[in-house]
Amino acid sequence: MCRGQMSSAVCHDPEPNMTKRYRVLVGGEWIGDEREGIEVINPYDGSLIGIVPEATAEDVDKTIIAARTGFPLISEMPAYRRSEILAKTGELILRDREEIAAIIAREAGKSWKYAVAEAERGAETFMFAALEARAQHGEIVPMDASPVSAGRFGFYLRVPIGVIGAITPFNFPLNLVAHKLAPAIAAGNSVVLKPATKTPLTSLKLAELMVEAGLPPGALNVVIGRGSTIGNRLVEDQRLAMITFTGSPEVGREIKARCGLKRITLELGSNCPVIVEEDGDLDAAVARCLMGSYANSGQVCISVQRIFVHKKCYGEFVVKFAEATGRLKVGNPLDKECDIGPMISPQELARAVSWLEEAKRLGARIEAGGEVVGNCLQPTILTGVKREMKVVCSEVFAPIVTVLPYDSFEDALEMANDSVYGLQAGIYTSDINKAFKAIHRLDVGGVIINDVPTFRVDHMPYGGNKESGLGREGVRYAIEEMTNIKMVCINLRR
Ligand code: NAP
Repeated sequence: MCRGQMSSAVCHDPEPNMTKRYRVLVGGEWIGDEREGIEVINPYDGSLIGIVPEATAEDVDKTIIAARTGFPLISEMPAYRRSEILAKTGELILRDREEIAAIIAREAGKSWKYAVAEAERGAETFMFAALEARAQHGEIVPMDASPVSAGRFGFYLRVPIGVIGAITPFNFPLNLVAHKLAPAIAAGNSVVLKPATKTPLTSLKLAELMVEAGLPPGALNVVIGRGSTIGNRLVEDQRLAMITFTGSPEVGREIKARCGLKRITLELGSNCPVIVEEDGDLDAAVARCLMGSYANSGQVCISVQRIFVHKKCYGEFVVKFAEATGRLKVGNPLDKECDIGPMISPQELARAVSWLEEAKRLGARIEAGGEVVGNCLQPTILTGVKREMKVVCSEVFAPIVTVLPYDSFEDALEMANDSVYGLQAGIYTSDINKAFKAIHRLDVGGVIINDVPTFRVDHMPYGGNKESGLGREGVRYAIEEMTNIKMVCINLRR
């Protein structure tokens, strides 16, 4: 029997009645003991699903030493071998996709269909990295372009940067970890991974598969502990060459202030906009905003949060969107029919409800949802909102979406840009000129025409402007961040 209320006959819970103690991967060994560990809790029903070892400061030190020892093993490995390991990891993820989806659903509360999709995307991220591992190259620099260097031959190589500290959030416990590990290994780096303490089990499963795929000892090492203690130690340690972080803007800012001169990439949050023009496909916009606003209970960095609809079709949009929202099924993520699972924790649920209360107090109207069911928040549409409300100007990270009317396309672009964030934006229009105007004007890392900003595939450059981050991911672009250029100049004797 599965824990919690099951509203369908299908249950994917692989270990229903036991609390497993997990070990972490350090220097090719699985280590852990019976010390007090961190409890991993199923956010849907509050049950305990695993205990992972909590790292001490000495453990962090040992893990970094293991990663330094592993660095020559991975950096000197020929590219075709690294590629084979990455491709094999992708295959193994597909082999175990149902087991992985169950882990994601249980520890992150992600509904089954999105958890399976994440597993499949994770496999694809590794497949893309396998291709990129073979394609790394430098270029010749024309030294005779200057009289000073004529008579010399110049070229550069891309070389691995060293040990990378990867710090990841709870909301995509497989694919966002894959976006750090796969490019790092493709480039020949070793890694210390610190997954979110709420969702470490998917990372441990991935580490197991990478070992099975042939990863050498020390190339990947996992350390689990709170960000404020263990995370900080990693960030400040001078033996690490780079920190690659995905998480909240608040923590991103703190990490940047602490990390000294290391390379850093920051993939942070947003309050993504969608513009629905009067000449856009309204029904398509409604259908995709449904996924974009509520997938993973809105706990997605490119979740739709602000929908701007031309005043001529605003009324129709709100009615259709509210009807469709009301049909979504909220409940146990392990139920195959479930659309929306719980928020990651009761604290996050309470925070989202307090933002909703603030919006109502300041005059917002609820068009759909608004109620709490167990640890879930019903998918909620707000109208009559103002820019200063938290549900508009901050990252809501919950199944709450706002819809606002606008008069002109110029106004819509201005309203969309009126944000401290700039990750992705979507626009629905059938006018190519408006599409290009949006491409040029919107201050974001990605403009998605005729779809929601939540659209992402794993080989496209991805990252944010303004407070949404620094640097880009998307395998090839992450590899650029994770390598150094080494210039070679040969003084030719003639
Ligand atoms: P978070 O609270 O910022 O945590 C992210 C990671 O940072 C966790 O592993 C956390 O550890 C660790 N951490 C916390 N404080 C730290 C510190 N002082 N030093 C070093 N590490 C520290 O984010 P979250 O709640 O897990 O994830 C939600 C956020 O991530 C949202 O803002 C979302 O938009 C953003 N996000 C961005 C992207 C993107 O690609 N742009 C993708 C997904 C999510 P513990 O929590 O274990 O203590």
